[in-house]
Amino acid sequence: MIVTRFAPSPTGLLHLGHVFAAQVAAGLARRQGGRYRLRIEDIDQGRCRPEFDAAIAEDLAWLGLMPDDAPWRQSARLDAYRDALDRLQAAGLVYPCFCTRAEIRREIAAIGAAPHGPDGPLYPGTCRSLDPGERRERLAAGAPHCWRLDVAAAAARAGPLDWHDQRAGRQRATPEILGDAVLARRDSPTSYHLAVVVDDAAQGITLVTRGEDLFPATHLHRLLQALLDLPVPAWHHHRLIVDDAGRRLAKRDDARAVRTLRAAGHDPADVLAMTGFQEDGDAAIAPPSASPGISPAPGARPRDGASHAGRPPRPPARAG
Ligand SMILES: [Zn+2]
Repeated sequence: MIVTRFAPSPTGLLHLGHVFAAQVAAGLARRQGGRYRLRIEDIDQGRCRPEFDAAIAEDLAWLGLMPDDAPWRQSARLDAYRDALDRLQAAGLVYPCFCTRAEIRREIAAIGAAPHGPDGPLYPGTCRSLDPGERRERLAAGAPHCWRLDVAAAAARAGPLDWHDQRAGRQRATPEILGDAVLARRDSPTSYHLAVVVDDAAQGITLVTRGEDLFPATHLHRLLQALLDLPVPAWHHHRLIVDDAGRRLAKRDDARAVRTLRAAGHDPADVLAMTGFQEDGDAAIAPPSASPGISPAPGARPRDGASHAGRPPRPPARAG
């Protein structure tokens, strides 16, 4: 049975980008008699707020996009992430990184031509080769640190891997494009990457639906699944909803928040239509034109044939 999920963070109000993501997850599950689940990604306690968590449930209910099961919260799952990190530590595939952001910037500048990943220069690996004695001493002294994956060692351990995206087809996993990614942050036993992989397996997700911006991260997630002996889902990286200027919607785009649209008099059907979601395209298993999945957001819309009809309307209540 197909099981999908919608996984928002309660750091702001749901906007049309979230609505579209929920439509894709719910649409793909419902088409095939599967289940659609909700996961609240609230590990970043500094940015998450209970009122946004409550607003997610209320907005989804208003839109008719409530999940088929009770929602999960990542804040209640820290032990599971700690266990996964323990396993990677025991396998010698992660190392503590004591670098501050400023130190990493300086190191990259000193190297001159540091390799770049999808989000900028990669971590230069400073702490990977730290003397084991010094590493022990600094850990014992309680020096602040995150945990990074030794991606070269991990990829060598796992061997060649591939994964399947429903729109882009079979992919050879190239986790090295993200460098030695952070798997546990200074203040948390996990990072986004580790938590998502652990939770998708624990929630029985068979089809991970999410935006194209996360396409590169999937290479790393596939590697983590192999290292942790987790089942491998399929993926559906969907197009991103963009504003009139072609920019991806962000939390600050209150004009496109579900609440703002509702207050302006739109009904749920209006709001659902504003995303341009198409049952036969966005929720189809094998759309006619497979995409590479990593092209920039503005290109995604015409490729899906949704044309300008699906473009979010101009803000009803605000200028500009
Ligand atoms: Zn470091």
